[in-house]
Amino acid sequence: MTKFDLIIFGAGPIGLTLANLLGKKHFKILVIDKTKELVFNTNRYIAISKKTNKILNQDILKKKIFANQVKSMQLYNESFENKNKLDLSSETICSIVNATELHKELYHECCKQNNITISLNSKLKSVVSQNGLVELTTTNDKKFNSNYLFVSDGKKSQVKEFLKLEENKISYNSTAYVFEFSHSKNNNNATYQLFHQNFIAGLLPLSEKIFSCVLSINNKFCYKNDIKKTIDIFLKNEICNKFGKIKINSEITSFPLTFSHASKYSYNNVILIGDSAHSFHPLAGMGMNVGFSDVLSLVSCFEENIYSFGSDKFFNKYDYERHAINQRTINILNFIEKTLTSKNRFLNNGVNRGFNFLNKSNFIKTQIINFANNNLDYF
Ligand SMILES: Cc1cc2nc3c(=O)[nH]c(=O)nc-3n(C[C@H](O)[C@H](O)[C@H](O)COP(=O)(O)OP(=O)(O)OC[C@H]3O[C@@H](n4cnc5c(N)ncnc54)[C@H](O)[C@@H]3O)c2cc1C
Repeated sequence: MTKFDLIIFGAGPIGLTLANLLGKKHFKILVIDKTKELVFNTNRYIAISKKTNKILNQDILKKKIFANQVKSMQLYNESFENKNKLDLSSETICSIVNATELHKELYHECCKQNNITISLNSKLKSVVSQNGLVELTTTNDKKFNSNYLFVSDGKKSQVKEFLKLEENKISYNSTAYVFEFSHSKNNNNATYQLFHQNFIAGLLPLSEKIFSCVLSINNKFCYKNDIKKTIDIFLKNEICNKFGKIKINSEITSFPLTFSHASKYSYNNVILIGDSAHSFHPLAGMGMNVGFSDVLSLVSCFEENIYSFGSDKFFNKYDYERHAINQRTINILNFIEKTLTSKNRFLNNGVNRGFNFLNKSNFIKTQIINFANNNLDYF
């Protein structure tokens, strides 16, 4: 049995960020991941907020990894018409990073710390939490124990399933399609969100003529189960008028959209974090940003030292604070998803009137931008 202070199960961006920050506090840390080599191959781009940007650049990364900085976000209801638009502009709407590059850099920074051991190709056989310690056995019969186990193995968390931890889970009856496309008209380096009763499209500008697109389509709208045809219809009907001639430049990946939220984040000395604790609709691009706020809250428990290290109450503050904030985030996102994809004509007119009202108030728009830049946290 090898003893560590902390075990982090899942070397995704959230697990590695946590390892980086806690490693600097000199804990002996083990990071476990099931993959043989960390799979740095998701060709996905992520919008990161001012708060996330600060954590990464001040405290972790030595290298700047941003693909693009965005100063304008345009939300449209039903179609790309100016009368249906909410225009949010600021010095810092978000930064766009390549998820693979971010993951790689987080991994390299972890590897530089001697007190962090990263064990890849390790699969879980059993996990037991007793007498204030967590004991973990992998399928190659290696045994480890530690004071705390941080569970960051994503939304299909095996630990959560193994320990039968409760969660609230709902399907959005939609599928998300992710791809890149180039277009002939300039996008003015703005992000665009188009809300429609059958889909929500999020467009992140990688350059003035290339978008990374996350298209969440209601399953009923998928044309004869033909994904390619459905996306073609979307591009022809909705995007071409606004952005000109279009060419898809990447593979199209897809996944079903569900939201899940664990009933609690802290079970004695087992702590859930990132997508294993909560997974959101991608409409606001907040999943990873919220995970970074989780990390900050966990790290603050070490700094405040309200309970002694080893106590099962050590992460109480993280549990009640982050659970409440994330529940509220889920409620906000579900409200936006329901309202802005509603088939109800009156509701739709109400949304347009709301957009027009907001367009006239720079004060409220600034508050919205600040709220998003703070990862939808309280101030
Ligand atoms: C298309 C798309 C666009 C997105 N855009 C944004 C955005 O713009 N902004 C934003 O903030 N967020 C965005 N997100 C969300 C973001 O990608 C996730 O919130 C983030 O990746 C969660 O990180 P994580 O480390 O918690 O989990 P994951 O990234 O899922 O990492 C989990 C890790 O655990 C490992 N693992 C899994 N199971 C096991 C097991 N059984 N044993 C051992 N190891 C295991 C995996 O190999 C992986 O390394 C987007 C997501 C998608 C899908």
